Amino acid sequence: MFEKVEELTKEIKASVAESQEELERYRLRFIARKGELASLFQQLKDVPNERKREFGQAVNEIKKLAQDRFKELINGLENNQNNRQASDLDLTLPAEDPIGAIHPITATRNRIIEIFKRIGFNVSDGPEIEDDWHNFTALNFPPNHPAREMQDTFFIEKDPDMVLRTHTSNVQIRLMQSQKPPFRSIMPGRVFRNEAISARAHCIFHQVEGLYVAENVSFKDLKETLYYFAKEMFGKDTDIRFRPSYFPFTEPSAEMDISCDLLKPGTCKLCGGTKNICKGTGWVEILGCGMVDPNVLESCGIDSQKYTGFAFGMGIERIAMLKYQIKDLRLFTENDIRFLGQFKTEV
Ligand SMILES: [Zn+2]
Repeated sequence: MFEKVEELTKEIKASVAESQEELERYRLRFIARKGELASLFQQLKDVPNERKREFGQAVNEIKKLAQDRFKELINGLENNQNNRQASDLDLTLPAEDPIGAIHPITATRNRIIEIFKRIGFNVSDGPEIEDDWHNFTALNFPPNHPAREMQDTFFIEKDPDMVLRTHTSNVQIRLMQSQKPPFRSIMPGRVFRNEAISARAHCIFHQVEGLYVAENVSFKDLKETLYYFAKEMFGKDTDIRFRPSYFPFTEPSAEMDISCDLLKPGTCKLCGGTKNICKGTGWVEILGCGMVDPNVLESCGIDSQKYTGFAFGMGIERIAMLKYQIKDLRLFTENDIRFLGQFKTEV
């Protein structure tokens, strides 16, 4: 009997558990109520009286040993698992979710370019820091004309003749100066105005302007071109309307709205039922346009008797906000991955 205790003691000391199964096997054998040690306690009654005390002590010792070893085995197994997990951690693997997304402004700009390219417009580019003549004078803004104050301008301090362009119209002027009509071109780009940053205004934003100059270009061409754009951008059921407006560089001038509630009268397509964009009118302004003022053609050396043209301009942020139902302009520049990650499907 004492031999049995000695034998089990050796076994307990030598036991290992490299898996939950092995640990459970140990528990059933040495700890459980029907295990080996429990049967030792039962054998106590068969031990001669003079050795009962000694045997009892030995059995209690082995019980404590078995329990201590059990705790060691549990700890050992946990450490092993942690180590294994640590060694499974491969720092050379790519970070989780590494795929970026096209910025909604870029996606919108690309979509606008793609639509106009299909009807024969190419893309022109020009400088963001521009002289006063290309930004204002050539566009029919006389030096002290109040129209110049329509746009809050950043002037370059050391040279007041240089400005951060307030629109991409400078590219239209440069195009007309450097080439002969016909032109059919769009000018996407960044523009700057001295405005306080809010949900609806920013000091840096993006525009796309378009220019078509040729013989016999009429307001009908303007209307058809922009109607095509509106349908391609916002859906086939989109309707448009023109409201008379004023810009120094076009005559006549108009602002163009797209329909908000054509799908189901009373249910705003762009507002999503809240009417907070169209204010319940069913129409949302998206761009300004008009026939190029003959003075602008002449200041670029184009014969305004022979050629006519139309021009239009829209804010890319505005188009993106309407298309994606974005309520706050600041989201575009805050670089918040929770916002940007929502555009993963855009290419
Ligand atoms: Zn609406």
